[in-house]
Amino acid sequence: MDCIFCGIIEGAIPSGKVYEDDCLVAFNDAAPRAPVHVLIVPREHIQSAAALTGSHAELLGRIWITLPKIAQKLGLDSFRVITNAGADAGQTVEHLHFHLLGGRTLDMNLG
Ligand code: AMP
Repeated sequence: MDCIFCGIIEGAIPSGKVYEDDCLVAFNDAAPRAPVHVLIVPREHIQSAAALTGSHAELLGRIWITLPKIAQKLGLDSFRVITNAGADAGQTVEHLHFHLLGGRTLDMNLG
């Protein structure tokens, strides 16, 4: 499998990691759209949110509980979370990830 995020998780590809634990890794987006733009990525390779099943319920709980802690660690009072599923939604890396954005006022211009 040729997955850039799996490479980052394994440490084979360098990244600016801001958090990691046994189920997820968070690192700075290479092309930030906000002062804080971090990607929250499960270690398990899941293609996108469209591929989630009931077997991922615990993982999703872990992600959503950890997200605000990462935001707090990065000094964010307000933040936005986005996940793109499919090319028309803007997904360019086929490994489930959540964009954590903040550090400025965000509008609803979704492109
Ligand atoms: P998406 O378009 O929702 O699939 O998001 C993929 C994100 O991954 C984009 O915001 C890219 O800027 C980001 N990205 C791609 N390659 C890297 C990399 N090597 N390190 C950090 N971020 C990356």
